[in-house]
Amino acid sequence: MADSTRIFIVEDERRIARFLQIELEHEGYETEMEDNGERALERIVQGNYDLVLLDVMLPGMDGMEICRRVREVSQVPIIMLTACDEVEDKVAGLDIGADDYMTKPFAIQELLARIRNALRKHRATDESPEGEKLTVKDLIMYPSRYEVTVQGEDVQLTKKEYSLLEYMLRNKRTVLTRDQILQEVWGYDYTGDTNVVDVYIRYLRAKIDDRFNQKYIWTVRGVGYVVKD
Ligand code: CA
Repeated sequence: MADSTRIFIVEDERRIARFLQIELEHEGYETEMEDNGERALERIVQGNYDLVLLDVMLPGMDGMEICRRVREVSQVPIIMLTACDEVEDKVAGLDIGADDYMTKPFAIQELLARIRNALRKHRATDESPEGEKLTVKDLIMYPSRYEVTVQGEDVQLTKKEYSLLEYMLRNKRTVLTRDQILQEVWGYDYTGDTNVVDVYIRYLRAKIDDRFNQKYIWTVRGVGYVVKD
């Protein structure tokens, strides 16, 4: 349900991951787990998590790199879990946009307090009336924060999906041709297939229209696409 908080545990040490899962679920959070760095990145970007617990040393891709890449597309709160004495990791983690860090081994009560704090801060930002808003129906885009919500829920978009949606929102109720979209979003020097527009429209629809069971993006046959209320 919309009011349950989903925490994504990225940790390759099974014992720690399992411990975190039990403790967090006991507190009423929903959890998902991942032990591989590359898959974790994919799931964070595509998923709809309220907070990520991110181990630093992981197979596939390390936590620093994951954090850096997530921050290109999402402001989901991230708490890094670092091994003892990795002081440089702590500093680097905060530099690349992590919200907080915990040194292992940690007291669970301390971690729970930091989770509540990170969630609270994130929600406070969500509610502040700062900056420009682009809307269609109950979809809101906050360009200054690079965020999109539908019915108050975060939608995680890739850079391209975001740019495409932003262009369409800025031209709400205007039918845009594939060529216009291609030039604006992919650039004049793009030489690939124009089908790429249709492909990305499909991605957006899966994350928005299909997920929320509501039509935001309309097809105008033989012409192109339009976003409208
Ligand atoms: Ca590890």
